Amino acid sequence: MKPETALYRAWAEVDTDAMKHNLSVVRAALPHHRRMAIVKAEAYGHGLEGVARALDDADIEFFGVATITEAARIQALDCKTCPFILGPCFPEERERIALHGWRAALSSLEEAEHFNSLGKLYNRQVNLHISVDTGMGRAGLLPADLVGFGQKLKQLEHLNIEGVYSHLSAASDDISFTHRQIGAFEQAVQQLSADLSFPYRHLCSSSAVFNYSAPCTNMVRLGRILYGYSPMPSPYNKELRHTLTLYSRVTLVRTLPDNHGVSYNHTYVTTAPTKVATIGIGFGDGYLHYLSNTGARVYLNGSYCPVLGRITMDQIMVDVSHMSQVQPGDVAEIMGPNVPWEELTARAKTIPSNVITSLTARVPRVYIP
Ligand SMILES: *Cc1c(COP(=O)(O)O)cnc(C)c1O
Repeated sequence: MKPETALYRAWAEVDTDAMKHNLSVVRAALPHHRRMAIVKAEAYGHGLEGVARALDDADIEFFGVATITEAARIQALDCKTCPFILGPCFPEERERIALHGWRAALSSLEEAEHFNSLGKLYNRQVNLHISVDTGMGRAGLLPADLVGFGQKLKQLEHLNIEGVYSHLSAASDDISFTHRQIGAFEQAVQQLSADLSFPYRHLCSSSAVFNYSAPCTNMVRLGRILYGYSPMPSPYNKELRHTLTLYSRVTLVRTLPDNHGVSYNHTYVTTAPTKVATIGIGFGDGYLHYLSNTGARVYLNGSYCPVLGRITMDQIMVDVSHMSQVQPGDVAEIMGPNVPWEELTARAKTIPSNVITSLTARVPRVYIP
């Protein structure tokens, strides 16, 4: 552990080598596919700049982002990997996309015409990927709207239609619907290919890469798997490595008497004299309040300690009655190899991405090596 962490109350250690390893697991599973690394939402809590810097040379095609601001932050790093804005953009944002050469999604002819006029204005090609709504209901053109679309795009000479893509909505629980989406995408690609050719065709993200084949695609978009979490059972899962360990420190150790409430509203009351350690992390750091009274535990000095009562904004209390050696400054693992991301997800009754993207700006990210 780096000495700079010595004064931190809570911090996240981020292992970018593990991310590169996870990319190589996908590369081995899908040798004919290229990869987009999804770094939206602070790279799933791992820190956008740190992750983009580390993965710029990791044999990926694009950095997937959600907003123009995220794209600009990548641009500011002088990365050679181009940002790809995954969702729709406001008209006012398109000029920056055109000027910087960022990749954007296309959901309508109006967007295409606007991008084309910007390309003309600045005398450059605007690189776009046609987004097709095969069932997600979030963005893109509906398959029925594709009739004649390729023909119209072909006439917009400042556009470089570089790719076509879609997004699966239920790959982790509805196999037959997912196959229908894959079929609809193949049909869309075929139809558009009458007028256009696509260097990039992409559909699958983490819940699909290891479990479905989509023969007409040649790139996968990797979010959760990049960060070590595969949502579907697969023989490849055991090869994935953890990328983030969340730590916090004991700030105080006391023994509370019998029948003493712990934390707000006394949802926990001691039933015997209890040795309690206060730890410097709370929901203000992203340790979700929903974990209160769910059996959540931290890993401290080699053993598990149950969280007592409610999680507060900046602090939690844990039971250390079973431990003889515990003192202020001791480091607890809050999430990591001993307290998996999946465990917190289940206790908080949410989804993994919700847990990991909840880490706030107050938590310093420490990159190893
Ligand atoms: C966020 C996002 C992804 C990444 O999803 P994971 O399931 O985390 O891999 C892929 N594609 C699109 C369009 C997204 O918005």
